[in-house]
This record gives sequence, C-alpha cells and structure tokens, in this order.
Amino acid sequence: MSKIVMKFGGTSVGSMELIGNVAKRVQLEKEKGHDIVVVVSAMGKTTDDLAEMASKITNNPTKREMDMLLATGEQVTMSLLAIQLNSLGVETLSLTGWQAGIVTDEVHRNSKIKQLDGQKINEHLMANRVVIVAGFQGMSELGEITTLGRGGSDTTAVAIAAAIGADICDIYTDVDGVYTSDPRYVSHARKLEQLEYDEMLELAHLGAGVLHPRAVEFAKNYKIPLRVRSSYEETEGTILKEEVDVENNLVVRGVAFESDIVRLTIEYTVPFNGSLASIFTTLANNHIDVDIIVQSIVEGMKPTVSFSIKKESLSEAIHVLEKKKQNLGFTFADFEVGLAKVSIVGSGMVSNPGVAAQMFDRLSKENIPVKMVSTSEIKVSVVVPQGNMIQAANALHDEFDLAIN
Ligand code: ASP
Ligand code: MG
Repeated sequence: MSKIVMKFGGTSVGSMELIGNVAKRVQLEKEKGHDIVVVVSAMGKTTDDLAEMASKITNNPTKREMDMLLATGEQVTMSLLAIQLNSLGVETLSLTGWQAGIVTDEVHRNSKIKQLDGQKINEHLMANRVVIVAGFQGMSELGEITTLGRGGSDTTAVAIAAAIGADICDIYTDVDGVYTSDPRYVSHARKLEQLEYDEMLELAHLGAGVLHPRAVEFAKNYKIPLRVRSSYEETEGTILKEEVDVENNLVVRGVAFESDIVRLTIEYTVPFNGSLASIFTTLANNHIDVDIIVQSIVEGMKPTVSFSIKKESLSEAIHVLEKKKQNLGFTFADFEVGLAKVSIVGSGMVSNPGVAAQMFDRLSKENIPVKMVSTSEIKVSVVVPQGNMIQAANALHDEFDLAIN
C-alpha cells in the first residue's frame, strides 16, 4: 500500500464527462488499497475566463481581488469531483487550500508556500477517505486568500506529497510525459522516460509549460519521485529523479523556448551616481523578474546594461524605472520587443566543453542572430528574434541528435 498524490490539470477536468473519468481513475487506485490525495486545477479554461471577466471592468484590478476571484475556479472542480466519487461509493471529502493547511506569504497572485501541515490530510486518510485539495490556492498568515501563480496546482500537489510523506506524486495531464521539446512545434520531439530534477527545473524555468518550476524545486528538495503522465491513457509517462542514466551519450536532453521576451537597455554616464545593484533591487522590490543581464563597457562609449524580462512586465518595469530615474542616476533607457529565448539543457554539459560553441555555430549557419546569451552548468540560453524561435528550436533539436531513440 502506498500513499499517492494524483494531480489533474485543467484539460483533464474540463467537462463533467472528464470529471467522471477522473473519478473512475481515482476509484481504481483507491481500490488497489492506496491512500489517495487528489489535487485539482480549475476546469478547462476557467482561470482565463475569470481573468477575462475582470478585465472587462478594468485593466488594473487589485491583486487581492483577483486572488479572491481566481481561487474560486479550483473549488468548483474539487467539490464536483468529491460529489462524483461519493456517488460512486468512495468516501471522499474536498478541502480548500487553507482548510488543507497551506500557509503562504503575502504576495498576491504569485505567493510561495511557507508552511504546510500535513496532519489534517493524514487524519482523513487514516479514516479511509479520499481527500481532494483545491490546487493553486492558499492562505497567508494575515488570513488573506492567495494564489500560487499560473500553473501553481502542480506546486500544491508536490508540496502536499512532501508534507504527508507520499511515495509518489503523479501529475496527470493532456500530454503523456515530458518531451525533448514541445512536439507541437518541434517535429521530431520525443518522449523521455526519465529526467533529472535539475534538468526539469531548467526546462520548466525556460518555458517548457508541462510543470510549474516551483513544483520541481519542491520535488528536488524533498526527493519526491514525480511522474508526468497522461490522464487519458494508461502509459508510464516520464519519471523525474535525482540522477538518470545518460542515453546514447546525449549531452543535451531538451530544447525549451519561450516567446514574448523584451530586452531593456539602460545607458549611463560615468561616474554613475546610482549603481547596477540599485536598478536591479528596485526591479526585484517590484516583483519584476529579470532574466539575462549583460553589461557592456567599451572604451569611448557610454556603458550600458541590458537585461531581458517578460513582455507582461514591460509596462511596470518602465514605470518603476522612470519613477526612480533621478535616484538611480541613469541617462537613457530603451527597449526591444519581439524577441524569444531558446535554450538547450542537459546535465551532461558539465563535463562537455564546446556545447555552446556548437550551438552558436548552428545558429549562425541558420542565419539566426543571437542577441543575448546566458549559460549555467547545465544550460545555454540565447535570445533571438521571435520570428526565428521555432526554426532555432528545430535546428538545435537536430544539431544535438535529440530525435534519436
Ligand atoms: N488554474 C490555475 C491556472 O490555470 C492553476 C493551475 O491550473 O495549475 O493557472
Ligand atoms: Mg499546468
């Protein structure tokens, strides 16, 4: 007998019929004698639809009220699924995030779980009940309803798995596993049987939408085996672990990409009466995620610092920087839109120099200009024109032999 967390994403619970299928799947696991906690997302596109309704009123709703609104989506799913399971004769109870004991920080719309006491869930499991928990939501210490950021139900699932000491956390979704790249855009993308936490963490941060990055972080920190599998078919999916065997000596294991990147460039005169740190502290204090940073100091030219952010943060970034221009002491800021980030990831890169060179070489053969670069031990990312993003992803997938099975 195992303790299992089963998480179902929005597409897996998108209709009453699909909720019925999920209920049967849960019932099947329960009948095998396992202890089951189910974490659910909002049905289908509910979260988008709710946000859309608010946007009909204003572009600028308070984040608090958006959390009040968006948190309702998951509650619809959890109760319908509980009603369904109960009517199948499986004793089930649903809990909101706060009822399940999920305590978050105070950052609305992108909060982090600070504490999760698994005791309450465990008590219900001991009473032989299936427990359903609403994903994506929690409550701050001040008693405010918060949400964990888009895609955050994955994080709820893994955090619960850690808190109750689950044997495995299964993420059921509309794809049957983690692929070498997004099969909708990269024609030879292939399903991976195994992947390391660190690789998945990079891929998730770099735009592979299949898992919420914070969920992978939790899984890594608490060593929770995490499996991504199809909610429609009985296949094995992809298992995430600490270390996996190197397949066919492949150095690169995945290609990720993300559109809607903006490059901001700030020019300053020397002596710079502000500091680079103060610019980035200001952005961080306003929760603007800065990604790649490149400083350029060339003799005879004004020094500049460029950094990439997501398009959705652009207006806020400009607003914040303009407001502090005087204090921060820069002279000029400019931005370029229509960019994308393409990355290669693989833990084998640590011991294989020359991977970046091979990547740049291929991109140059494809006539794709590289605007920014960033590297870590296990990844190389480039910023390229958005129009070249899919071409770059396909070329790199080919260059590093990822289609080979
Ligand atoms: N319903 C939320 C979203 O669409 C959370 C999730 O599904 O993970 O982002
Ligand atoms: Mg998701």
